[in-house]
Amino acid sequence: MGADFASIIFWEILKMTDINESAQTFQFQTETKQLLKILIHSIYTDQDVFLRELISNASDALTRLKFVMLTEKEGVDTDADPGVWITVDKENKTITIRDNGIGMTRDEIVENLGTIAHSGVKQFMDAITESNANLTDIIGQFGVGFYSAFMVAEEIEVHTRAYKKDEEAILWRSNGEEQYTLEKSDKKDRGTEIILHLNENAEEFLEEYRVQTAIKKYSDFIPYPIVVGDSEEPVNRQTALWRQTPMSIEEEEYKNFYQQYTMDFEAPLTKLHLTIDAPVQMYSLLYIPSNPERTMFSPRQQDGLELYARKVLIQEYTLDLLPHSFRFIQGVIDSEDIPLNVSRETIQSTRVMRQIKKVITSRVISHLKEMQRKESSDYANFWEAYQQFIKEGIATDDEYSEKLTDLLVFHTNKQPDEWISLDQYIEAMPEGQEKIYYLLAADYSSAAISPHLELMEEKDYEVLFLAEDVDPFMMLRLQNYKEKSFANIAAEEVNSDEKTDDSQKDDEKEEQEHMGLVSHFKSTLSERVSDVRLTTRLARSPARLVDAGGEMTQEMQRVYEMLNRDFEKPNKVLEINAAHPLIQKLEQLPEDDPRSSLIIEQIFEDTLLLEGIHPNPASMIERIQKIMEASLE
Ligand code: ADP
Ligand code: MG
Repeated sequence: MGADFASIIFWEILKMTDINESAQTFQFQTETKQLLKILIHSIYTDQDVFLRELISNASDALTRLKFVMLTEKEGVDTDADPGVWITVDKENKTITIRDNGIGMTRDEIVENLGTIAHSGVKQFMDAITESNANLTDIIGQFGVGFYSAFMVAEEIEVHTRAYKKDEEAILWRSNGEEQYTLEKSDKKDRGTEIILHLNENAEEFLEEYRVQTAIKKYSDFIPYPIVVGDSEEPVNRQTALWRQTPMSIEEEEYKNFYQQYTMDFEAPLTKLHLTIDAPVQMYSLLYIPSNPERTMFSPRQQDGLELYARKVLIQEYTLDLLPHSFRFIQGVIDSEDIPLNVSRETIQSTRVMRQIKKVITSRVISHLKEMQRKESSDYANFWEAYQQFIKEGIATDDEYSEKLTDLLVFHTNKQPDEWISLDQYIEAMPEGQEKIYYLLAADYSSAAISPHLELMEEKDYEVLFLAEDVDPFMMLRLQNYKEKSFANIAAEEVNSDEKTDDSQKDDEKEEQEHMGLVSHFKSTLSERVSDVRLTTRLARSPARLVDAGGEMTQEMQRVYEMLNRDFEKPNKVLEINAAHPLIQKLEQLPEDDPRSSLIIEQIFEDTLLLEGIHPNPASMIERIQKIMEASLE
């Protein structure tokens, strides 16, 4: 029997059994081993995140204990003031992080710090191998924060005793390689004490000031005192920022809090800090991120606000406190009026929650309105990032549709680079204009050259441009604003509204004069248009498409088209401007001139393009080339 075989047997036995009465050995699961390898064998510049992770675990443990004490009362071990204590020992090269939180039972420690597949480990490994993310930025977000301690420690001891009276104290110990051991600990009091035997690259953490800097940087708002060394004074500020008076807080602090909270590297677009006493008592600190997409590394991976009742976090992602269209808002709501022992289901239906929602929503809307008036370029950034959400809310939110309408702003034909609110639009309406006119378009540049504008421009009317996908949906719902109705300038009624009796007669006379031209268009385009007629409503353009005025509005057509790819739009009416030089010359061509049908086709497809409904613009190239050849002959 060779020595190798003997040692294999030895290690197999070691894995499975107690080597002595006190210590039992366990293998780490495969992914955990891989993770530990990476952590141990690499050197990171921001090693100090291990403190953030261990302190955040301690803080979680204290919060969980607080919750248990409020709900269970019976059987909880002594009530020392909650805290986190950190000491360094230069001689033995250790740093110790101790809390008097909820602690862990033997089963919990096995589950949390080792054997059972911690699903986060695998996701985390995927994240660091698939992207170039900085490992230390993201380690806490995958439920593997504890292991970051192996970046600085060659051995870790965890002494822990769970919160119930008579629980046994356990010592978990590992060098982070293959396995860990469990044995009895002589820890007397409740909580967890983590002793890190620092490796030689991490000796800076034997200096108290170095530890204090890291705490200030990452853990300033942890709501429990964090005490370093013999000092009595906590290093961290503790009081939740949202509970302080807004006057006492610097902009920089708001920004730091946001960045600690979301790990967003950019500053927020805006923040709103509220302390309210009536009709419901609450503190709230809300942020709008500069970008609606959060990165995969954000610690906040779902929508919703954090809800605290009397400083205890009772729900991490609360969606019922704001309308659905404000789901991009990040932040905290903390109220003394919410009962602690309510279940998640009943939270939503309590009167307090409804009151909070009402108050918060109206404050958010008025904050944004004010921003629109006073900081219009900030508002433009907000609008470019979030208009989809607001418009979707106008289209679908029964309760808040109307209030959200106040937030709308538009580019217009008169002010194509500004964002104009409906109030500003109404303010500027010339005498005689009754309606709010708008134009649906595929994008803003085609809106600006739309032939539909020509009649409106003649009258000096301003027209709102609606070029977002969500706009047709919204317009199905949005009928009026402050007693003014909305009107689509491409719709039949608008054009007939704006016609005078005189112009009506002109149209009929024209019709007679240009019979041949109209019938040539009709025969060339045949079933692709529902009709061809002359118009005097155009100035610059040779032609335009209008809706036939059937039961289906342009808005509905666009919505149907988005919902159903195979939807066939009803044909439109082609209106032609007989006064336009192009049309005049076309009319003079002999009927059988091959150029004339080419040009009619091209005029028609140009109008499709302008409406944003050309199915295949590249198909026009061949015809355009023929037209160019003909023009050179
Ligand atoms: P996460 O904190 O995201 O769950 P960690 O790897 O940081 O992931 O910690 C794993 C688990 O270990 C925690 O969820 C918790 O159950 C337990 N734990 C860690 N530190 C402590 C502590 N100081 N007190 C009690 N439990 C702890
Ligand atoms: Mg953690």
